[in-house]
Amino acid sequence: MQRNKLLFATALTVLLTLGFVATSVIGYFVAEDSLEQQIAEETLPLTSDNIFSEIERDLLRSILISSLMAHDTFVRDWVVEGEEDPEAIIRYLAEIQQKYETTTAFFVAESSRRYYHPDGVLTTVTRANPADAWYFRVRETNEPFEINIDHDTAEPSRLSIFVNYRVEDEAGEYIGVTGIGLAVETVAGLIESYQRRYGRSIYFINREGEITLRGSGYDGPERIQEQPGLARHAIRILTSPSTDFAYERPGIGTTYVNTRLIPELDWFLVVEQRESSANARLLNTLIVNILLALGVTALVLLTGGWTLRNYQRRLETMATTDRLTGARNRQALEVLFEQARRLGRRHDQPISIINLDIDHFKAINDGHGHQAGDRVLKELVDTVSSQIREIDTLCRWGGDEFLILLQDTDADRARLTAERIREAVVRRHGSPQDEQGEEAWTVSQGVAQCRENESLDSLIHRADKALYRAKRNGRNQVAVAEPG
Ligand code: GH3
Ligand code: MG
Repeated sequence: MQRNKLLFATALTVLLTLGFVATSVIGYFVAEDSLEQQIAEETLPLTSDNIFSEIERDLLRSILISSLMAHDTFVRDWVVEGEEDPEAIIRYLAEIQQKYETTTAFFVAESSRRYYHPDGVLTTVTRANPADAWYFRVRETNEPFEINIDHDTAEPSRLSIFVNYRVEDEAGEYIGVTGIGLAVETVAGLIESYQRRYGRSIYFINREGEITLRGSGYDGPERIQEQPGLARHAIRILTSPSTDFAYERPGIGTTYVNTRLIPELDWFLVVEQRESSANARLLNTLIVNILLALGVTALVLLTGGWTLRNYQRRLETMATTDRLTGARNRQALEVLFEQARRLGRRHDQPISIINLDIDHFKAINDGHGHQAGDRVLKELVDTVSSQIREIDTLCRWGGDEFLILLQDTDADRARLTAERIREAVVRRHGSPQDEQGEEAWTVSQGVAQCRENESLDSLIHRADKALYRAKRNGRNQVAVAEPG
């Protein structure tokens, strides 16, 4: 029985745990899969699009401002009239810079090659100076403008994005270059805010794969070709307008990448996300799920065990109890007799039984009905129980016949107990109860002490014979069987 219970509990635990853990783990992998897909197909491209369109917006605005300057009649007239009052153009540039909040505004006249700036005339551009190459490039181009990332002439430590716009006179003759500069930090600020908000790594690379602009959190090498795992994707990145893929970054795990070319800058925008940061939350959920599953399993086992134990107890009671009187039944006595005999042998104690039968019970049934007979049986059990010890057992053997198993009791003491029972019955039921009109009744008892190695059948037989004697001798008395 115990083994069956253990087997049942183990099977239940294994089933529940397997079921719960399997659903949790499957759920985890499904979520991980869709998370990967979401990162690769939605999150990263969206981030890339947002940054791209913000950069485009800033660039477009800068191109518009530069175009405005290039087509300004004041600028044209001032050049055509011979750059007479430098203060006038310097004031004009200062106003542009202030009004549009650009980091710089400039004008270079073709005739004098002077570089005008809100701070004054800074320099004269020459072909000999490599830093002035941009001027001669714009001078020779057929496009109306070019965008160039360069160190600012006014502040060489600062990297700026310049819009260099060609200025032409009314006849279409080239007369100089004007435009504004945006500090690269504006774009860097954009990167920072995206990194902070979404935990993504964002940086720019040029056509050679060199990192040109990065957020503060960037911890990779100076060139993507030097980044293990990423290097083999370098050619693909540098030759495609946009790519997305995942690579294994040593010590960090799967990293998802989205790249796209920003044609105006001739740079590639790279957005990376590590799987681990997104996965940590999923993993936490998995752990919580498994703990919950274990908790539920324990709860199910506890309540299951408790219900089972109760049910088993009820079954045991039902199987060993007489329904009418609540005394033990035959099956119970057989087991209890074996237990009592083992205990008696171990402690060298005698055991005895009393065979008890109601006198003229048939007459009660016949005279007052079967229900009255049932009531008498219940009253008898109540009376006998009050006269025996907790360790003794009262058992209904059948009909109106009862057996009382007495532990640590020899024939003499058993006889005394039987006498006590007889007297109690006489006291309670020996005279007619007038108001109910019920018959008075008594009991006869046969007492026998168990012999060594005697079977229950033989013991009962001897007690039965003693009972028969008590009946024959006039009932309402106790007779003791012959000892060994
Ligand atoms: P004696 O003094 O010789 O024992 O006479 P008696 O009338 O008691 O005779 P006996 O013991 O043979 O009678 C038993 C009767 O008990 C017969 C049967 O109808 C009745 N009986 C058996 N079981 C039940 C029961 O559950 N309820 C009731 N009311 N009567 C029962
Ligand atoms: Mg009887």
